[in-house]
Amino acid sequence: MNISIFELFSIGVGPSSSHTVGPMRAARRFIMEAKAQQLLPKATQVYIDLYGSLALTGKGHGTDKAVLMGLMGHAPENVDPETIPSILNEIRQQHQLRLMDQYPVTFDEPTQLLFHYKETLPYHANGMRFTLYDVNNTVLKSEEYYSVGGGFIVTATECKQDQKPQPKKSVPYSFHSALELLHHCKTHHKSIAEIMLENEKTWRTDAEIRERVLTIWQVMQDCIDRGCKHEGELPGGLKVKRRAPKIYQLLQQATVMDSMNWINLFALAVNEENAAGGRVVTAPTNGAAGIIPASFAYHLKFHPGAKVEDILTYFLTAGAIGLLYKENASISAAEVGCQGEVGVACSMAAGALCALWGGNVEQVENAAEIGMEHHLGLTCDPIAGLVQIPCIERNTMGTLQAINSAKLALLGDGTHLVSLDAVINTMRETGKDMQTKYKETAQGGLAVHQPAC
Ligand code: SF4
Repeated sequence: MNISIFELFSIGVGPSSSHTVGPMRAARRFIMEAKAQQLLPKATQVYIDLYGSLALTGKGHGTDKAVLMGLMGHAPENVDPETIPSILNEIRQQHQLRLMDQYPVTFDEPTQLLFHYKETLPYHANGMRFTLYDVNNTVLKSEEYYSVGGGFIVTATECKQDQKPQPKKSVPYSFHSALELLHHCKTHHKSIAEIMLENEKTWRTDAEIRERVLTIWQVMQDCIDRGCKHEGELPGGLKVKRRAPKIYQLLQQATVMDSMNWINLFALAVNEENAAGGRVVTAPTNGAAGIIPASFAYHLKFHPGAKVEDILTYFLTAGAIGLLYKENASISAAEVGCQGEVGVACSMAAGALCALWGGNVEQVENAAEIGMEHHLGLTCDPIAGLVQIPCIERNTMGTLQAINSAKLALLGDGTHLVSLDAVINTMRETGKDMQTKYKETAQGGLAVHQPAC
């Protein structure tokens, strides 16, 4: 497995990793390549086509805004979420888009940013195409991209290459299953986090890894803090009121420490910020971004002897588990439903907490397995296509399940019947069997049985 955990934990903006972060990255990549090919001075028009789930829930998930920001050259990790509304207003009022913030082209959004609700591109439900034209309406450049979950993007060409044999892995402890990962741990007498640290050194020094992990935790912590303060209604028209600030005030005045309500607070704070388009860390997706920080915040607040430095073991262990899902199943709700978002985040947090609380590698694997086992079949049915209901509350449930999964695993000795590999395979197959209407289309479940206001 030749992927860094920092691709799973990436700093971005809400509300969706597959529908906001991925499309922004794709648009930026397209336009940067066009710039490198010296095409931008000749460009007079740009067209954007969104397909499948990107079209069906793209409005609610901010895909339209994300691709425009990406074409202007903004990246999810450094765009200031506060500035996005005014930039979009300018584009819409002036009917002009500045490619890479430098080359103006005329842009009529209703006719040039098209939602193809009934069509999908061949490789994935989240497909999009960008096309640049010159003054004679000749195509200068056209490219199809897929947002495959967690902010990852691939081009159509890369999808074809993916079906060919992969180059030799360069990490010292390559693994493609939990079984192989555990084998490395036992053979080399290392924890999962120690194995992952050695693998991460393929890309960065020890000091860089530690610094980056702490930076990511700081962004998560800041997100919790902002979510505890920001009051009011979430955008999108559902009139969902933020709950975290009130809960925060109540908990501060309480005379008894109610750990469950602190957990609820941490998860709500992150996911309300995400729903508002704020700065969040994809973990491993935006819709499920609350579970991993809320679980660690719980550890820090309630576990005796907990310290911020524990974040390294926590992220490395969670990252190993997340990579197993990414390689062997999916972290895209458009492919496998919410089991691939909230289910995966729960499984990652469960294993990581278990490691922090002294679990051996079998117990960690057991915790991760429990975390997913009870999310199997979980559908994605966001009301009005917004990442609000059921998403925000669902992160509180996922966090509680992660904590309980870790505790359950620690009550045993690591022996268990269903392996993590088996549950990952089950999740993938369940996702394949799931009807499309339950896969980030807002065409089934709560999205149709509870009409939007
Ligand atoms: S229901 Fe789950 S997968 Fe779907 S948008 Fe909400 S959090 Fe993401």
